[in-house]
Amino acid sequence: MYRTHTCGELRIGNAGQKVTLAGWVQRTRKLGGMTFIDLRDRYGITQLVVESDADASLLGTATSLGREYVIQAIGTVVERQSKNSKMPTGDIEIKLDKINILNKSMTPPFTIEDESDGGEDIRAKYRYLDLRRNPLQKALALRHKLAHEIRNYLDAHDFMEIETPYLIKSTPEGARDFVVPSRMNPGEFYALPQSPQTFKQLLMVAGYDRYFQIVRCFRDEDLRADRQPEFTQIDCEMSFVEQDDVLNMFEGMMRTLFKNVIGVDVPDPLPRMSWFDAMDNYGSDKPDVRFGMTIHEITDKVKGKGFSILDEAKYVGAIAVQGGAEYTRKQIDELTEWVKRPQVGAKGLIYIKLNTDGSVKSSIDKFYASEDLKAIGEAVEAKTGDIILIMSGNEKRKVQTMLGVLRIEMGNRLGMRDPKVFAPLWIIDFPLLEWSDEDNRFYAMHHPFTAPKPEHMDLFYSNKKEDLERVCANAYDFVLNGTELGGGSIRIHDSEVQKRMFEVLGIGSEEAEYKFGFIIHAFQYGAPPHGGLAFGFDRVCALFAGKDTIRDFIAFPKNNMGRDVMIDSPSRIDQMQLDELHIDIRKEQ
Ligand code: ASP
Repeated sequence: MYRTHTCGELRIGNAGQKVTLAGWVQRTRKLGGMTFIDLRDRYGITQLVVESDADASLLGTATSLGREYVIQAIGTVVERQSKNSKMPTGDIEIKLDKINILNKSMTPPFTIEDESDGGEDIRAKYRYLDLRRNPLQKALALRHKLAHEIRNYLDAHDFMEIETPYLIKSTPEGARDFVVPSRMNPGEFYALPQSPQTFKQLLMVAGYDRYFQIVRCFRDEDLRADRQPEFTQIDCEMSFVEQDDVLNMFEGMMRTLFKNVIGVDVPDPLPRMSWFDAMDNYGSDKPDVRFGMTIHEITDKVKGKGFSILDEAKYVGAIAVQGGAEYTRKQIDELTEWVKRPQVGAKGLIYIKLNTDGSVKSSIDKFYASEDLKAIGEAVEAKTGDIILIMSGNEKRKVQTMLGVLRIEMGNRLGMRDPKVFAPLWIIDFPLLEWSDEDNRFYAMHHPFTAPKPEHMDLFYSNKKEDLERVCANAYDFVLNGTELGGGSIRIHDSEVQKRMFEVLGIGSEEAEYKFGFIIHAFQYGAPPHGGLAFGFDRVCALFAGKDTIRDFIAFPKNNMGRDVMIDSPSRIDQMQLDELHIDIRKEQ
């Protein structure tokens, strides 16, 4: 037997017992002839001690131990002289009779401590060592706990976990597919699923009623900081449901997770906000509602005073930033440069300061009397001491989005985005379609299987762009603290409506048949009304831990270039493999 106890287990009540522990050497230190060894495993750390009068071979072994050696330690539990109340095992130590070295270790390239001295790259290369560190062990334990609670909740509500294939068909709409060449079918490719969307709908057609899967999905996108090419979704689908049924079921699930995993109570029911209100008031379809500072339209308030930029703008909006009247010229210049960065894309920033002495100072006071500026302040619900930040332009949604980005930045600067405060809500009533000027066509805002609202069916069959733009979908997103954690919709279940959807999206009937024939046909064989959603599981984990990067919650993640630097992938394959796959690699131009 390698061990009788784990390194996190022994307490004062075990004093006097003979025990055997096994684990990794965290550190050793000598003190007055005694050798102390901190022995670590997943469960904790236990202090081992070799007395100065121990036999020579034991003393010799104890002093030879290096960091991360794997040892078996045999001895007696004794009460510690100097207790450590910060450690669960801090009241005891093990007085050793014997040490067996199970395996030696090279000196690790960075310290295996909560705060490691290793940089990100080196830790990624030696991920198996990084994973030994406490913060990562905690992160993966949280992930496990969440997955467990999710399965419990969904099982209790009659959901069946059903696996769907990973080798499917390429139907890029939205993100790019990862493709896999087929050796047995030369010139043909599988695609890895961006989501099991069509399969879960087919499971509804097949009568499974309630499905879920904690499932890997793949999207070949340019990676931003918080994206991974493979990620995990909690993917769910239900039959015979309306929007309310889906929202109630899954806010129930999220409420259970908040309560059982991190002991947080969230409102019951959760707030619901229409997409239009989210855009108008927060400039985002994933509003952070932990703080106010909402956007106000002031288009009517600024016209006719001879300031051409605002006179000509179709939309003028503003936010009031608490305490901002104290900003110096330099701070305002810095903020103006900040909004001009390509990530925000504004042309400039107009400000009005409501000084605490009652005076008003503004970048536009040449055109506006102090009364006009105060009236704007009132419209924006600004208080004395605030600064009002104004943006304008011809496209309302674009200006609102820029103000939304600025609002988040100011929220960060003012410390209004505490990760330990949780403000979940649903965003509902999304537009069904999004027009792309660039491609001169509509795209599905969610995906092409999302149903138009029944009351918008007439608009959906209109051939006018303005009508189609007004069609709303039975689609919803679950948003937490400015992040979209999940989303879904009530689906189309009528093959004619589905065909119309492809037509609206400019997908010709032949192409629709080639790519999506299977689902159109399935809908002709008794498809029940159905709907569902999917949550980004990695993000759920990160946000529950109050963190914003998902990488720590994935055991073996990729870096920003989509590389796994530990196994060094992607990598070349040899000529024989290429030949078998009928693939020629083009020489770099
Ligand atoms: N499949 C969708 C997605 O990945 C979610 C859903 O509609 O259920 O975003």
